[in-house]
Amino acid sequence: MQRAVVAAAKQGLRIKAVGAGHSFTGIAVAPDVLLELDELQGLVGVDEERRRVTLLAGTRLHRIPGLLAPYGLAMENLGDIDRQSISGAISTGTHGTGARFGGLATQVAGITLITAAGEFLRIDEEHQPELLPAVALGLGALGVIVEVTLQCVPAFVMHETDRPVPLEEVLADVHAWAAENDHFEFYWFPHTDVALTKSTERLPEDAVRHPLPVVGKWIDETLLSNGVYRVVCAAGAVAPAITPPFSRLAVRLTGDREYTDLSHRVLTQRRTVRFREMEYAIPAAEVVPALRAVTELIARRGWRIEFPIEVRFAAADDRWLSTAHGRETAYIAVHRYWRHDPREYFDAVERIMREHGGRPHWGKLHGLGREELAESYPRFADFLALRERMDPERRFGNRYLSRVLGE
Ligand SMILES: Cc1cc2nc3c(=O)[nH]c(=O)nc-3n(C[C@H](O)[C@H](O)[C@H](O)COP(=O)(O)OP(=O)(O)OC[C@H]3O[C@@H](n4cnc5c(N)ncnc54)[C@H](O)[C@@H]3O)c2cc1C
Repeated sequence: MQRAVVAAAKQGLRIKAVGAGHSFTGIAVAPDVLLELDELQGLVGVDEERRRVTLLAGTRLHRIPGLLAPYGLAMENLGDIDRQSISGAISTGTHGTGARFGGLATQVAGITLITAAGEFLRIDEEHQPELLPAVALGLGALGVIVEVTLQCVPAFVMHETDRPVPLEEVLADVHAWAAENDHFEFYWFPHTDVALTKSTERLPEDAVRHPLPVVGKWIDETLLSNGVYRVVCAAGAVAPAITPPFSRLAVRLTGDREYTDLSHRVLTQRRTVRFREMEYAIPAAEVVPALRAVTELIARRGWRIEFPIEVRFAAADDRWLSTAHGRETAYIAVHRYWRHDPREYFDAVERIMREHGGRPHWGKLHGLGREELAESYPRFADFLALRERMDPERRFGNRYLSRVLGE
């Protein structure tokens, strides 16, 4: 890797490390040299006393539970899927839900990267700790990550309860739902007045497990999240009228169930239907008016929206470019089947989110540029100054970074 960065520099080429390529934006597009890190997976070291593990940069999230199991450890929180690489996930601010928990970048206790000058740089609490909040969520703009040290927690089990609840009932008490459950999220299915709530509690590792029966998991992953969605989305592209009845059916099939399993099995699912996504982080206090504005927008425009709108929560954190930087956060995510042009819908939702102080997910579609983003992040200028210092020639630049950070 070091040789690749040095060789690219000698030839005046730009170089970009890529994880699983799961970002919806062009953030991982390599204009010249693409550094694929699939061979760079696995455990480098474990600090059992401090419950820290160091992983190679390309390690996919789905491999981490198996690597941590022998040490009785787990990642504190995860997003919806586990196909991403650890470096890609932290670099774009990937997050899950849980009002007391931060995104994956908040679990980073140390990072080793190769700088634009081709040198190894270690950043952790003993080495330039003041830079950790910048490099732990660096948009791939500051260097090529070689290793990531994660602060883990003792392995744990989760109990999840999924219930359909009238949307109005959820909105009336949403802050209590978010505060009283370790993890809480809900999906509102457009064209219904129902939200599918998911409330999850953390339990000790030795708690009795009642995993989702095979049929339940099949309904969730194959039929709903993937199989029937694939059919309905494809059919909905030509016959949008079937979308509302399907949404009602989806709520009926997934609701009202409980299960208990290891944390990573509860937190993540499989997604095989292709879609495009935009997600905005807004102050948690804004979640009700912002979501109401989106429900009114969809009704007013008469769109048939085939994917549920996902609402999640996260704690405030200190990562300079974290969408939850310095504020308790709610996330609102909108999706469209990949064959549908998402622009009109996403642009209109984006305007609403901006009115509510929204910051877009770095790895998901959005229309903002450097000026608007600079206003949203108190440490934005510090990040730009650090980038100037660490990569003055924009060795790690690409079009997306030019748009959001400037040339
Ligand atoms: C189906 C699906 C579900 C998703 N669910 C969620 C979710 O629940 N929550 C959420 O927040 N996001 C979610 N995302 C978004 C996803 O987590 C992010 O886009 C993430 O960055 C993808 O990781 P990746 O390994 O594919 O990274 P890539 O897309 O390959 O890269 C992302 C960035 O990381 C940089 N990068 C990668 N490796 C390195 C390295 N070694 N050194 C330096 N920079 C590096 C790249 O250059 C690029 O800038 C989802 C995406 C999909 C497709």
